[in-house]
Amino acid sequence: MPSDKSSTAVHLREATPTLWINPDRLERSLIDRSKTIAPKDIEDARARFVRFRPLLQVLFPELRASGGVIESPLLAAPTLQAALGLPLAHGQLLIKADHSLQVAGSIKARGGIHEVLEFAEELAQRNGLLEGGNYASLANESARAVFRRHQVAVGSTGNLGLSIGIVASALGFRTVVHMSADAKEWKKERLRKRDVLVIEHDGDYADAVAAGRRQAESEPLCHFVDDENSSSLFLGYSAAAGHLREQLELLGVKVDADHPLFVYLPCGVGGAPGGIAFGLAHYFGKHVHCFFAEPTQSPCFLARMLARDGEHPSVYDVGLTNRTEADGLAVPRASELAAVLMRPIVAGVFTVEDETMFRHLRLAHTTEQLRIEPSASVGFGGPAMVCESESGRAYLQSHGLSSRMHQATHVIWTTGGLFVPQTEYEEFLARGASLDLDIPTPS
Ligand SMILES: *Cc1c(COP(=O)(O)O)cnc(C)c1O
Repeated sequence: MPSDKSSTAVHLREATPTLWINPDRLERSLIDRSKTIAPKDIEDARARFVRFRPLLQVLFPELRASGGVIESPLLAAPTLQAALGLPLAHGQLLIKADHSLQVAGSIKARGGIHEVLEFAEELAQRNGLLEGGNYASLANESARAVFRRHQVAVGSTGNLGLSIGIVASALGFRTVVHMSADAKEWKKERLRKRDVLVIEHDGDYADAVAAGRRQAESEPLCHFVDDENSSSLFLGYSAAAGHLREQLELLGVKVDADHPLFVYLPCGVGGAPGGIAFGLAHYFGKHVHCFFAEPTQSPCFLARMLARDGEHPSVYDVGLTNRTEADGLAVPRASELAAVLMRPIVAGVFTVEDETMFRHLRLAHTTEQLRIEPSASVGFGGPAMVCESESGRAYLQSHGLSSRMHQATHVIWTTGGLFVPQTEYEEFLARGASLDLDIPTPS
């Protein structure tokens, strides 16, 4: 039997690591066609990134080498696999290295940049700036003059603000980022250097978003990036799936009934992991098993999945603090858009203590020289959760996968880290080193 809902609710409340299996995942077709977002939208988002390549190369010199492509490598990780104690009998481990994404330094490069580009494209078309279809011309003064009349605003715990702020200011938009109390000082500094107006709030992420939304309502030419509801963000993330599919093909990795694919995705509001899972479900159907990972003190997506539709519980409602060093995931309430779309798709959600995060952050460094931030390390316990915990083994059994695991592929998605200042990164490593080095396997 899948995990029992009441025992999951107890683990959730008591902040003990747990793996919840989604009883509502559909087996026949994971994508519910009645929903507002359709598979075609995934291709549209991919095409938008392609159209903007010439402009992105002009705006960001770091993208010249890739021709304006913002993508990350898919890495083999044999040393990490051994260190995590994942036997080859359970499959092969790969890392999707979004911690190295250019421009934004995190997975937010996908969603955040997509939404700003979509807004810019709409304005450009409306103002006749794209007549020759020359996207690079949007870096010209005439286009900037149009963009400058408009404001882009967002609420963030840090990384979304960085992504939106960097791209919107590069295009010439007036840009306002409302930062929650969790946001790191260096992220605010980085934005101020680009003339982004950073407004600091004492409250949590939901407060920062609410403040941004209020401000946007009072400004006539303001586009508010609404992380709790935006389909453009969601679709920007989904574009990653097509690229992952190509990378798996290049590596000769099959995905079918005999070769299941497991993907472990750090989850805040659920937009990034949800968009990616949506795209992967489109390409691989029931053969992809997406598990979301959350901090034990901020499991807003799990809380939402345990609730009935129509209820929007926050992690405070279940008695948790929302305090975690995983600042990118310190979110009290899930995105309703992501929750509804993920109901038939997500395979499960697991929770991770901060100490485990820091151990895994260090392990990623010592084994594969990956430089990741705490939020990016919550997925590392995923393969053991699925292969060794009681609820995970029951999931594999009920899907007829137990005898096929030697042909499985596990992809751990590392979601941020590129821009973390060296001194902060060294503190993370030291914290990982100070903890007991053997990582207990879940019972
Ligand atoms: C934002 C973020 C996530 C999760 O994205 P959501 O859309 O909030 O679920 C994961 N990792 C990092 C580093 C992030 O910044």
